[in-house]
Amino acid sequence: MPSLILRDMSSRWGSCQPKRGVITLNKRLIEAPLSCIEYVIMHEFIHFLHPDHSKKFYELLSTLMPDWKERKDVLESGGNLQLSRFPLL
Ligand SMILES: [Zn+2]
Repeated sequence: MPSLILRDMSSRWGSCQPKRGVITLNKRLIEAPLSCIEYVIMHEFIHFLHPDHSKKFYELLSTLMPDWKERKDVLESGGNLQLSRFPLL
């Protein structure tokens, strides 16, 4: 299992340092739907096998999570109605 770091990130939802065995996640992910959180974690885990965004990376991602594009779109649209109905306090 990798070490997990949660912190404020200004431009990314997550990152992976395969050689150090570290996955870093943006703390703001907690505001996203669970399906989007799963997508980011799956994305970062696959970097342990494919450190780049090569064709093989996306082939494995699509095999393990066939609906990853929909999850990514929801995450990047930021238009999550559930969040606006239930604002964080
Ligand atoms: Zn990546």
